[in-house]
Amino acid sequence: MTYFEMTKTVIKSLFSRPATLMYPAKPAKKTALTRGHVTINPDGCITCRSCQRKCPTQAICVEVKEKTWQIDRLRCIVCNCCVEVCPTKCLAMDTQYTAAMTVHGGIYKVPVAGPKKKEPAPDAAAKPAEKKE
Ligand code: SF4
Ligand code: SF4
Repeated sequence: MTYFEMTKTVIKSLFSRPATLMYPAKPAKKTALTRGHVTINPDGCITCRSCQRKCPTQAICVEVKEKTWQIDRLRCIVCNCCVEVCPTKCLAMDTQYTAAMTVHGGIYKVPVAGPKKKEPAPDAAAKPAEKKE
């Protein structure tokens, strides 16, 4: 009985279209909502660590003293949480999938700008004189 079922499946498969997609020979279909990989604009990162706290797989590591931002792409499940929570919008979701990588090849670390320096308060002399009523 099992052999009969198996033979039936083999013959059916021989004359039907493949169930799998021919990626990467044929490019995958992508839309604006496709989640490929997380990207960062290092100039916008203020090392607030919101992305690190929100990440469900601990894929992100922000070093405040070193001013670096790191992601382990093999841990990332492209949930988009870090992108949504970033206060400066310096994280984005790219639609391009990452290439296959080795076990240590997923680490991507970049130097970032860090906290914005506060502008010095203008001294009293520079302030315009208030009008007396
Ligand atoms: S997309 Fe999700 S899993 Fe990937 S780094 Fe961001 S929060 Fe973590
Ligand atoms: S990437 Fe965004 S959320 Fe993450 S530390 Fe930098 S500013 Fe904060």
